[in-house]
Amino acid sequence: MNLNFVAGKTFETIDPRTGETIARVSEGDKEDIDLAVGAARRAFDHGPWPRLPGAARAKIMHKFADLIDQHIEELATLDTLNAGKLFSWGKAVDIPSVANTLRYFAGAADKIHGQVLKMSRELHAYTLLEPIGVVGLIIPWNFPSTMFFVKVSPALAAGCTMVVKPAEQTPLSALFYAHLAKEAGIPDGVINVVSGYGPTAGAALTSHMNVDKVSFTGSTEVGRKVMQAAAASNLKTVSLELGGKSPLLIFDDADIDQAADLALLGVMHNKGEVCVAGSRVLVQEAIYDEFVKTLVEKAKEWVVGDPFHPNSRVGPQVDKKQYEKVMSYIEHGKREGATLLTGGKPAAKKGYYIEPTVFTDVTDDMMIVKDEIFGPVMVLMKFKTIEEGIKYANNTKYGLASGIVTKSLDIANTVSRSIKAGVVWINCYHGFDIDCPFGGYKMSGFGKDFGMEALHKYLQTKAVVTPIYNSPW
Ligand code: NAD
Repeated sequence: MNLNFVAGKTFETIDPRTGETIARVSEGDKEDIDLAVGAARRAFDHGPWPRLPGAARAKIMHKFADLIDQHIEELATLDTLNAGKLFSWGKAVDIPSVANTLRYFAGAADKIHGQVLKMSRELHAYTLLEPIGVVGLIIPWNFPSTMFFVKVSPALAAGCTMVVKPAEQTPLSALFYAHLAKEAGIPDGVINVVSGYGPTAGAALTSHMNVDKVSFTGSTEVGRKVMQAAAASNLKTVSLELGGKSPLLIFDDADIDQAADLALLGVMHNKGEVCVAGSRVLVQEAIYDEFVKTLVEKAKEWVVGDPFHPNSRVGPQVDKKQYEKVMSYIEHGKREGATLLTGGKPAAKKGYYIEPTVFTDVTDDMMIVKDEIFGPVMVLMKFKTIEEGIKYANNTKYGLASGIVTKSLDIANTVSRSIKAGVVWINCYHGFDIDCPFGGYKMSGFGKDFGMEALHKYLQTKAVVTPIYNSPW
């Protein structure tokens, strides 16, 4: 589906398996954002959506979810073609989960209420939770479907109207979702999708005077620009889900086999293009040597190949730019003197495939240790004491996620309280659930996606106060 935007311009979208163009998509710019925000504003100020009883909104959201279930194969195919994601995973996990995300928040749509307050004797008061208004939702390319629905679903449940700006690399599934939203009966103007680039369409949304909130997922660098644009325009509220360089701490008492599997899952899943990737693996010294041997052996199980093939576990990076960025970090790591344990090379002649890569003998000041690489690249470090492990784990500007592998409850309990990150996974990694709040500490952002906290991002509180009897108030 390709809608025409004002300037009539289009941009290419590619298949990262080959680098070839698979579609040209309309390129939205400031004028299109203006039109979309205008439609969302009218739908919010005069349309039915914010005024419907919650149960009626929920019914339409359930229909939307059912339609997604009916199109799982097509949607998983679009994300594989456009983002290089594993088709089998998309079909079994990503797409069914987005339908369930809609259902989860649909379940909350008729349970949005304020409180009766205990005021002074003369006053009676209560709070109303009202939808925040028109929201701008800006999403990245690594989980095009998941990111769309972690933002759209709570905003819909809250009664907001919205303009979604998908990443320029992966617009296809977002356009399909816009079509399904219409079929489900979401009223016109409630969900507007504008495909286009960040500095044009994205920036127009963040600085728009008629947008009441922006919820952004992407890099820390762009997150900063989003806040600046919000501050320079109408002081719209902002929530940011940003980058990470998450630590996985493996203690001496860990089962080495399981720990190596978890470490690889932590960073190689979705070819490392995961904001929570456990890209810094910290291993306690008594098991370090044996862990390294096991890890290198097991890395071979992460087969690189066509994401449509059921045996592949690592698909291509999303595009040439990302591929070159990851390769340049690998070259940098070698130049900085880190030891390459495995991988480090392109994994195919065509397409943007990279071998699962592990570096060791790294130091804290190396770029491969400090920066988010966003590819299948792990750095492995050794620590002596628990305190030293915690110190290394927290030695980052980010604070998105973390993991601990240990059999000791004491270690698990104390270390999880000492790590400055939005989530601590104990003896697991990527332990996501829609009911579990997710979001960063430090420069990984603020405001939670997932869980009821996400719903509250799209609501604002109004206090209503009245005298109980004729008082001088
Ligand atoms: P990015 O910041 O380059 O782009 C994200 C989105 O912002 C895209 O839609 C882009 O078009 C838009 N954008 C770019 N410049 C903009 C501007 N000036 N104004 C407004 N919008 C603009 O990030 P990316 O490369 O698409 O995604 C990778 C990054 O996203 C990584 O840093 C990753 O960690 C992060 N990420 C975070 C989470 C999380 O939940 N914390 C999840 C996924 C990805």
